[in-house]
Amino acid sequence: MHIPCRGLRIGLDHSDCDLPFLSHAHSDHTSGVKKHKKIISSPETLELSGIPAELASHDGATMLPAGHILGARQLLLDCDGERAVYSGDISLKPNIFGMKAEVPSCDRLIMEATYGDPAYLFPPMEDVHRMVAEWVKANPTSNLVIGCYELGKSQEMIKILNECGTAPIVTEKTESFCSVYEKYGIKLDRIVVGTEEAEEAMTHPFVSILPMGKAKRYFAYRLAEAFERPTLCAVATGWALHYRFDSDMAFPLSDHADFNDLVHYVEQSGAKHVEFFCGDGSRVLDAVKAKSGAILNS
Ligand SMILES: [Zn+2]
Repeated sequence: MHIPCRGLRIGLDHSDCDLPFLSHAHSDHTSGVKKHKKIISSPETLELSGIPAELASHDGATMLPAGHILGARQLLLDCDGERAVYSGDISLKPNIFGMKAEVPSCDRLIMEATYGDPAYLFPPMEDVHRMVAEWVKANPTSNLVIGCYELGKSQEMIKILNECGTAPIVTEKTESFCSVYEKYGIKLDRIVVGTEEAEEAMTHPFVSILPMGKAKRYFAYRLAEAFERPTLCAVATGWALHYRFDSDMAFPLSDHADFNDLVHYVEQSGAKHVEFFCGDGSRVLDAVKAKSGAILNS
């Protein structure tokens, strides 16, 4: 999708345009813009995505904080008498690093609706952090494996574990993202798999952060055999509120807005025209209409 703005078609995480905006470095957003040589984005996002492009700007285009992950931005386009906002992926509540989205006023809003279902109301972040700390504390003689997306969620989980005195073992790919976080001032205490330090750590019960697909019971069982030590696995994802995972524990840790946040965002923005991507936002619009009587188009 693109929006015409002062003579250029601005792409919204999309390649079919004159100049793309890249909201953040998750691969479902970067794939469309890789071929471009100039991109409107944050330096953090370009670095995390590994796209060898130049940062660009455009009259009428302003980036705003989005929360979500390091470098994530929203785009405000002030063009031809209309203020349009593309949210990218957003989180309204501050994460463990204090990152959170701003809510700009606009006429037209194009926003994510990953959790556009009233079943998704996330518990306070502190409660989820406490769940993680208690699980680690309750299992001192077991290896613990926690499945997280390698960019964003893994860095949050490392910080949560650091705050309860644990430095987890991480994959090389997760490490490559951690080093960018550190470059931008976020300290993360972790051990990289394959290093001497990791070998030493594995002589005792350890905590490891792995990609979501690995944190399953069969893999935990294989680790238990290899290390002759009980091994438990968990996942950290907002979907844990609704779906069952093949794990011993599931933490509802999300870096997206939940249903109430989406409703709040639409109301506060004052947008009269709202479009959604990444999910169905119809129930968000119904809730906004029921609360405020607003007349909205979608
Ligand atoms: Zn994302």
